[in-house]
Amino acid sequence: MRVGIPHFGNVYVPIRAMAKRLGASDNGLIIPPAMTQRTLDLGVKYSPTEACLPYKLTLGSLIEACELGADTLAQARGTGICRLGYYARGQEQMLHDLGYDAHFVTIDVSHHKFVSILQLIKNMADNAPWHEIIPAFFFGMGKLFALDKIEKVVQKMRALELEKGVANQIYREAVKAIDDASKGKEVKKITKEYIDKLNRMPKDPEVDPLKVAIVGEIYVVIEPFANMDVEVELGKLGVEVERTMTLSRWVKYSLLLNYLGINEWRKVHKLAKPYLDRDVGGDGWESVGEKVLYSRKEYDGLIHLAPFTCMPEIVAQNIMTSTKEDIPTLAITCDEQMAKQGMLTRLEAFVDLLSFRRKRRRDGR
Ligand code: SF4
Repeated sequence: MRVGIPHFGNVYVPIRAMAKRLGASDNGLIIPPAMTQRTLDLGVKYSPTEACLPYKLTLGSLIEACELGADTLAQARGTGICRLGYYARGQEQMLHDLGYDAHFVTIDVSHHKFVSILQLIKNMADNAPWHEIIPAFFFGMGKLFALDKIEKVVQKMRALELEKGVANQIYREAVKAIDDASKGKEVKKITKEYIDKLNRMPKDPEVDPLKVAIVGEIYVVIEPFANMDVEVELGKLGVEVERTMTLSRWVKYSLLLNYLGINEWRKVHKLAKPYLDRDVGGDGWESVGEKVLYSRKEYDGLIHLAPFTCMPEIVAQNIMTSTKEDIPTLAITCDEQMAKQGMLTRLEAFVDLLSFRRKRRRDGR
């Protein structure tokens, strides 16, 4: 069995760690190349025009995995109020039409997520015993948590660094080092080393960074190719970024704490209630609540990332324009038509506006 996965942020790191722990051969796990324009072109070419960007990008990524010999493909499935439920069906059909005889295995991300993921690992690991699967799972997750911990520091340091690009370079090295680590203790040591390194970076004493929160649909928020590196570009403009949505948070709650009745979004849903009091699928309800949340935390601005034709985020976007909370919000629609230069121009104009507002507030005007 040669299992291919689509790219989604750093998710390939824990999956590779689990596969290695469980003795998968070098070609037992096929990680496609990092997403490029080619991935997007393939996805766009073989997807329905109206499909959302995550569908197109993951299809392109899965085609690239098939080109490298994958015969089994892992994809998410759900029963929520959006298109996720159709992803695996539609993509499997398209891959068969293209002549790839790949079999899809799916992870239920709506119900029984933990069991669904463990069962999938067990199937892919030739029915390995649970006493091997569980430690491999936690080893992989340890890497995911370490990466998100380092990235949080990077999101601050990009705005403060004296020489632009250094924090990104350190982050890339950290991802590689954690990906290569073979023991839990090593992961902890590397995490500490890289966080120290980031904190010791020369900082620009003149900079007083603006703070911007990023909210929206989980795939385009987390996958940098889908959002054209919006966080890196904001860092270059001297903006510190915060986002609630991370893969490790999803794992912590959806796979573990939700089973104990702990709902990480309870507060956000409560804040959204005056405007929206029900789930509209995807992350739409959370986007509305997070706008209220970040306006109370005194952030300078908010960026709302939404895939084109994503119904949950269209609902959220329409509501977010009319809430009474006063926080400047830039809505960015992510699709194959998005041009980087256009996005940069909008980011620069947005950051200018935020700087002006901050100055006016401090001057007491
Ligand atoms: S939330 Fe939106 S973008 Fe994500 S799968 Fe559903 S419809 Fe597509």
